[in-house]
Amino acid sequence: MSLKEYKKKRDFSKTPEPKGKEKKKKTKNQGKFIVQKHDASRLHYDFRLEINGVLKSWAIPKGPSMNPEEKHLAVATEDHPLEYLNFEGIIKEGYGKGAVIIWDRGTYKNLKDISMDKAYKKGDIKIELRGKKLKGGFALINSKFNGKKKNWILIKIKDKYAKKQDILKKDKSVKSGKTIKQIKKNENRKS
Ligand code: MN
Repeated sequence: MSLKEYKKKRDFSKTPEPKGKEKKKKTKNQGKFIVQKHDASRLHYDFRLEINGVLKSWAIPKGPSMNPEEKHLAVATEDHPLEYLNFEGIIKEGYGKGAVIIWDRGTYKNLKDISMDKAYKKGDIKIELRGKKLKGGFALINSKFNGKKKNWILIKIKDKYAKKQDILKKDKSVKSGKTIKQIKKNENRKS
């Protein structure tokens, strides 16, 4: 668990993102999660789980789905600091340039009988999400991970929360109530 790569990619005199700090905290069977909608060079959703003092992170081009029949690619990216749980705004230049909103956040519960850290290393995560939009069981799978192969799959587990309607239509921030478009408009007014 390290924020080295996170810090290397960013110039904190220019980005509004938090510099953050690794926390010495062992995740037991629950933690926080967040999904940020990020209008970068390509729109994607950043899915992050608190594991042992950092946010393990994945970029999901198609976003999460509540439909168990849809398997969505989730590409592992660098660990982010826990301070990122509050980040919403516009990255004006540099790495990750674009607007970010907190699309969903809440807590998760580990559904496996091994630690989250071990589940991550095995590429076999099963969790229950308690967010405002995402609820119920989800699996994040990468049978060949070993810290290398970056392509995971995110799948909704069949349960009472599963549904076919497109959850991404709920496009407002759970923090500010604003869409990506509205955040950008606000920023333009300021400058
Ligand atoms: Mn991103």
